[in-house]
Amino acid sequence: MIILQGQGVSKGIEYGTVYFYRRQRAAASPQTGHDVTEQRARLERARAEAGEQLLQMAELARARAGDDAAELFETHAMLLEDEDYTGVMERFIAGGHSAEYAAERAGEQFERMLASMDDAYMRERATDIRDVTGRVLDLLGGVSREHPDWDSPVILAAHDLTPSETVQLDRNMVLAIATQAGSTSSHTAILARTMGIPAVCGLGERFNETYHGHEAFIVGETGELIFDPDPETLEALTERQKVQREQRELWRSMVGKEDVTLDGVKVEVCCNIGSPEDVGAVIANDAQGVGLFRSEFLYLAAGDYPGEEEQFRAYRQVAAAMEGKRVIIRTLDIGADKQVDYFRLEKEENPAMGLRAIRICLERPDVFRTQLRAIYRASAYGKVAIMFPMIANVWEVEECLRICAEVREELRQEGIEFDEHVSLGIMLETPAAVLMADRLAPLVDFFSMGTNDLTQYTLACDRQCSGLGRFYDPHHPAVLRALKLAADAAHAAGIPVGICGELAADSDMLPVFLALGIDELSVTPDAVLPLRAAIRSSTAKDCTLDLLDL
Ligand code: PEP
Ligand code: MG
Repeated sequence: MIILQGQGVSKGIEYGTVYFYRRQRAAASPQTGHDVTEQRARLERARAEAGEQLLQMAELARARAGDDAAELFETHAMLLEDEDYTGVMERFIAGGHSAEYAAERAGEQFERMLASMDDAYMRERATDIRDVTGRVLDLLGGVSREHPDWDSPVILAAHDLTPSETVQLDRNMVLAIATQAGSTSSHTAILARTMGIPAVCGLGERFNETYHGHEAFIVGETGELIFDPDPETLEALTERQKVQREQRELWRSMVGKEDVTLDGVKVEVCCNIGSPEDVGAVIANDAQGVGLFRSEFLYLAAGDYPGEEEQFRAYRQVAAAMEGKRVIIRTLDIGADKQVDYFRLEKEENPAMGLRAIRICLERPDVFRTQLRAIYRASAYGKVAIMFPMIANVWEVEECLRICAEVREELRQEGIEFDEHVSLGIMLETPAAVLMADRLAPLVDFFSMGTNDLTQYTLACDRQCSGLGRFYDPHHPAVLRALKLAADAAHAAGIPVGICGELAADSDMLPVFLALGIDELSVTPDAVLPLRAAIRSSTAKDCTLDLLDL
């Protein structure tokens, strides 16, 4: 048995024949003396055609892997216009070199520069430059860039795959991907995950063409490529693969289906996201909406307060991409474990109980108003809702609603378009909010239970402290009682209640959620289809809280 260890970048187990993909392109000749006008025109034509192909590729990517993948190819098309990149080409053309040589040198220079950068993200962009340059070179040589053909499904192996090669892969013919280079943040890895193709990257030079035609197991979870498994390993892997395949087929068959139990009770499955880049996965997994958009990413990623325009663009991107499905944007939730230097917050002994989330917003109304204006403006481009985190007082909600009304009036006065019916909801993540749920419910349009913090505050157990182990238990009867209190108060007031903490994805808890009449579960994109499958095989009327003895 030979085990090659790489980095698991997309989950799944597959068994198949390794197909080493070789790109063949002869190096361009450095010879000079070419007709400058003619070579410049050839290069221009190839660049223009490459740009067109990339825009077509963007549409293909949009259909197969969502808007973020599409954006990647749009960026590639823009790279073709980059003045530094084209400037290098022009220098070689002016020196009498061929269009091929000019494109090859420019690509190499940029690839080398990016590959030597400290930043891992920038290093990965070297593959993008190689992809774009390769496309231009193929067009100059009259080579069509169709991906290789094979007769039966294979484990596709390569030094590295470019994003455009990955997105063009026929899912039915590629069992998995194994590459010598690449890492978890490479676009190829991201696309593989979005397209649900198991993948292992970074296998290194040991994994080379001598393995072409050999059969292997690839294990996306552990990053292993296993040749000639011993009998026990073979049996264990075959069994795991069978279970996983059945499960995956069941989950994929859930796309396009309703989130409804056998007896007709609806529970919407939505997604939690942390940035606009996550929307592709939300769409690929067919979620019913975004149940929690953690807007703080904008603040955490910035070196200074993000302005209204910058925020507006990010929220609009998500709202528009979701095409009418609801996007709940949670207002700024920093403090505690999410510290942002430029806020210059005082050092606190107990930051989880300090000036955080809504408390900061109410103390810094300028920051709050900027965010609310951006969210309201984005509401003209989709179905947006606003949610306030860490509520503990009725007056906090009243103040939030008053500020929202003022912001709406301001926008009206300025003649700026927004949706007049943006729903306003709150997170129930403090015991105080749960105990006051009957007073809070009539004030808002929805509740969402943040079980991560609710567990922390109910059990007085720091969610950041790994040493607390079993003491931090979201299944604790006190937390479940809190869920019941809040759900009952919401329903008495006629508003829906969701759960957006990690507990929502726990399918063992589904009968409890059904018994409580939870209306929405918001989970990570990869948990949507498994949860839908569980909902569709449940019967709500059989679910009771009796066994829990609450
Ligand atoms: C929660 O507390 O459950 C929640 C969803 O919010 P966050 O994890 O961002 O604090
Ligand atoms: Mg929280």
